[in-house]
Amino acid sequence: MSKFALEKINRLEAYTPGEQPRDKKYIKLNTNESPFPPSPRVIKAVAEATGSLNLYPDPEAVSLKEAIAAEYGVNKDNVFVSNGSDEILSFVFMGLCPRGVCFPNITYGFYKVYAELYGVEYTTPTLKNFRIDVSDYLNANKTVVIANPNAPTGISLSLDEVESIVASNPDNVVCIDEAYVDFGGESAASLIGKYSNLIVARTFSKSRSMAGARLGYALASKQLIDDLNKIKYSTNPYNINRMTIVAGIEAIKDVSYFEQCRQAIIQAREYFSAELRAIGFSVLPSNANFVFAKSDRIGGKLLYTELRKRGFLVRHFSDPQLDDYNRISVGTIDDMKALLSAIKDILTDRGEINE
Ligand SMILES: *Cc1c(COP(=O)(O)O)cnc(C)c1O
Repeated sequence: MSKFALEKINRLEAYTPGEQPRDKKYIKLNTNESPFPPSPRVIKAVAEATGSLNLYPDPEAVSLKEAIAAEYGVNKDNVFVSNGSDEILSFVFMGLCPRGVCFPNITYGFYKVYAELYGVEYTTPTLKNFRIDVSDYLNANKTVVIANPNAPTGISLSLDEVESIVASNPDNVVCIDEAYVDFGGESAASLIGKYSNLIVARTFSKSRSMAGARLGYALASKQLIDDLNKIKYSTNPYNINRMTIVAGIEAIKDVSYFEQCRQAIIQAREYFSAELRAIGFSVLPSNANFVFAKSDRIGGKLLYTELRKRGFLVRHFSDPQLDDYNRISVGTIDDMKALLSAIKDILTDRGEINE
């Protein structure tokens, strides 16, 4: 730390991303990436785009917005594209929380970091049994940010529940972070035309196998999109690079590849959850591409450490409310079979199961 930074930067506790280790090859089930490569159409388009890297990208990314708008049946004026959906969240906290913000006490860790960074007052209603209590967000009188499905629980709210929150807060922004919605949640995108206060934030990082490209988008009323654009043009007008623009267009258009990948993840998740339960784990009912699970036979941290030794990376959170659990990203079915067999070995070695 230098002596030059603002006091609030000195005090800030930054977001800790999941490990991206380089020491050896792991089966990586710790950052909710897709185990599948991007669509072959994406790979080809990116290669072609490199020839124009001497030129700035289109700051409006019109062609990409059109592709997204067509896919979701909205107007391109209702679409904002961003450098990862983290950028949308950043802008919401930076500029759209005039009366403060509320988000669940257990959720995506970045919300708190942004609130602290931008000096936004925040409240954090507690989950009940790992579930969001909708009544905590009705008539909130401040901005509401909710991940649906929530992280790291994987549990989702129904569209009716989301709508009740949006409808009861007409004078405040309600931002629904749908990073995981393609794996089984109900999207609030259909409500965009009806509510001017709703922002739906989504990402290509998980269900479209493009975490490395950094691409997210928001669907919202034209007025809110204008606000997001104003912030973008005041920070980083060329926020989406040329390769990512074409990658996004092809990823949206390759519907069959997208369907195939997300169905494979849903199937692997259901298989893995059932198998874990069969060996005594409690597994929260997930609508995401990860499961949150614990066992009475082994602590969360110990399981994490033992799996790491065996070449599997999962995510463990040291927060005392979460530390019995691990968040395990869903990989291929073969990844999940290998992981299950490692978990069984660990329990057998410790005399917890006899085989
Ligand atoms: C992964 C994730 C994001 C951010 O993803 P980007 O890679 O920045 O698009 C946002 N919200 C939640 C809840 C996430 O898990």
